[in-house]
Amino acid sequence: MTNMTPIQADAPCPCGHALRYADCCGRFHVHAGPMHLKAPDAPTLMRSRYTAYVLGLTDYLSATWHPSTRPATLAPDSPGVRWLGKYKTFVLQRA
Ligand SMILES: [Zn+2]
Repeated sequence: MTNMTPIQADAPCPCGHALRYADCCGRFHVHAGPMHLKAPDAPTLMRSRYTAYVLGLTDYLSATWHPSTRPATLAPDSPGVRWLGKYKTFVLQRA
């Protein structure tokens, strides 16, 4: 992993889920790359990507970004950037 912000495995997950980091997004971050455990659905993937942004896990972000739109290189956020919100579930309602 690249430029990871330290986080304890039993810390609350930055995505806002009730699970601890190791049991939530952390299980997808452990083996970034082609062999990583894949999120089972889109909301889980988006939560794990949000947490990756918070922690600066650029390897995971690259691995979960479609090659047709992925930048050649990813840099972690500049020092001082803080992610303020938690992942939120938005439900689309049909008219
Ligand atoms: Zn999480």
